[in-house]
Amino acid sequence: MALIVQKYGGTSVGSTEKIKKVAERVTESHKKGNRLVVVLSAMAGQTDALINLSKEITGIPDPRELDVLVATGEQISISLFAMAVKSMGYDCCSLLGFQAAIHTDQAYGKARIKKIDTDRILKELDENRIVAVAGFQGIDESGNITTLGRGGSDTTAVALAAALKAAQCEIFTDVEGVFSADPNICTRARKLESISYEEMLELASLGAKVLDIRSIEFAKKFNVPIHVRSSFARNEGTMVVAENKEMEKVLVSGVVFDRNQARITMVKVPDRPGIAFKILDPVFKAGIVVDMIVQNPSAEGLTDLTFTATKTHFQETLKLVREVAKEIGAEKVLGDQDIAKVSIVGLGMRNHAGVASKMFETLAKENINISMISTSEIKISCIIEEKYTELAVRALHDAFGLGNEKD
Ligand code: ASP
Ligand code: MG
Repeated sequence: MALIVQKYGGTSVGSTEKIKKVAERVTESHKKGNRLVVVLSAMAGQTDALINLSKEITGIPDPRELDVLVATGEQISISLFAMAVKSMGYDCCSLLGFQAAIHTDQAYGKARIKKIDTDRILKELDENRIVAVAGFQGIDESGNITTLGRGGSDTTAVALAAALKAAQCEIFTDVEGVFSADPNICTRARKLESISYEEMLELASLGAKVLDIRSIEFAKKFNVPIHVRSSFARNEGTMVVAENKEMEKVLVSGVVFDRNQARITMVKVPDRPGIAFKILDPVFKAGIVVDMIVQNPSAEGLTDLTFTATKTHFQETLKLVREVAKEIGAEKVLGDQDIAKVSIVGLGMRNHAGVASKMFETLAKENINISMISTSEIKISCIIEEKYTELAVRALHDAFGLGNEKD
């Protein structure tokens, strides 16, 4: 009898009809003799709706009370799910984060799981019950309700799978798995059978939305195999697992893009120690994520500094940097929002030269200009004009032979 943790996301439990479908799928697995712990997200749109409600009260809601509020989304879905299971003649018990003994630190809105006492869950399983656990929430050491941050239910599921030493953690979502590129823009994209934690971490941080980054970090740390699959189809999805020898043979596993990028350049900055700190510190302090940073060699004591930040924070970043520019006597600040980041990810890059030049050559052939480049051991990212994003993704996907043979 295998212990399996399954997680269903917001769209999978987006209506009472869908909740009934999930209950059917879970009970089928239960009938086969599996012990099931089912983590649910809030019904699609619920968490946003709750946050909006809080905004009707105040612009800056108290973080403790906001967590009490948003945690109710998952309370609704687990209770409805448990009712559905019971009405089908099986036993089920819904548990909120604190009842499932999911202990976190005290960081409201972005709490981290510290430990899980599995006694209660195991007891329920021993009574032959299906256990439904509210995703995305826990309890701090003073007994306050905490939440893990948006998309946190994936992490709840992986953490439970680790604590319970589950045979598998299945993440049911609205796509069929992890693809070699976004199938919406690249018709030849192929579903990957398996991918390593490292690659999945890169893909997720570079724009792939299928798994929450923290859940992959957790899975990697505790070696929990994740099966990402569709709630609406029966076929196998993608396994996210520790790397193996075979995986290193693949040069590139996926092409990803991120349109939520903007570029800021400070022109003719006096080049002296401490300048990068001076320019970027206010941006970091504002909690804005800065990605690529490039400083040109200086001519006559003046240099240009360029960096990328998320487009969502473009105006705010521009304002902060313009203030510094005035203070230090830089000539001007330029901003460009019409850019995108296109990246290729693959374990095979570690041992093979020439992957970068092939990427540059492919973009050149399409007449796409690269304005910034950054690399890590297993990824290469290029900043290009936003309007060429789809063309770049398709061209790279073809160039590295990732496509579906039949098309
Ligand atoms: N309901 C939460 C959210 O929308 C957590 C989750 O779905 O993973 O962010
Ligand atoms: Mg999600």
